[in-house]
Amino acid sequence: MISLEKVRQRAESDAKTYGYYLNPDPEFLNDLLEGLRKNEERYGYPSCPCRVATGNLELDRDIICPCDYRDPDVAEFGTCYCALYVRKDVVEGKTSLMPIPERRPLEKQARAYAVTAEKIAEKAAATTAKTEQPRSEVRKKLWYCRQCGYVVYREDPPYVCPICKAKREMFAEIAVRIDLAG
Ligand code: SF4
Repeated sequence: MISLEKVRQRAESDAKTYGYYLNPDPEFLNDLLEGLRKNEERYGYPSCPCRVATGNLELDRDIICPCDYRDPDVAEFGTCYCALYVRKDVVEGKTSLMPIPERRPLEKQARAYAVTAEKIAEKAAATTAKTEQPRSEVRKKLWYCRQCGYVVYREDPPYVCPICKAKREMFAEIAVRIDLAG
């Protein structure tokens, strides 16, 4: 089991190397580090806690923390997409954090959603077969942020909303049914 402390030390060391800082809000920081820890346990690598990962290293390579988008985001907005890494002026309170646009290309996001949706459907189909429920309907999990409306397909809600930075508790599940037979 990977310890949260190890994840924290790695992030601190990386921040120091590049002249960044970790988010000064201890609770918020803890949530992000815990997300990285869980993703590393789940996939074998610490994929971004604010994005959908597939478990396929090739597809997820650009969002392994620190992701390919961190440096340009910190340079332009003062923070990475998740707000884990921030600039000095942010820590000093001279710059306020704002939700920032997603720099990851849309096609990569779409691929990640598609692969994840496929996996969920396969899992649901297997469960349906076992429990002998009707094959035509399976349930998928779709989450939305009650603060900003961001919507995402995932097994669990994100730790932090990538758009408005609301915490996991702000996410609510939307029940969706898909037709496997069709
Ligand atoms: S957005 Fe931040 S937390 Fe997410 S992978 Fe990039 S550097 Fe790590």
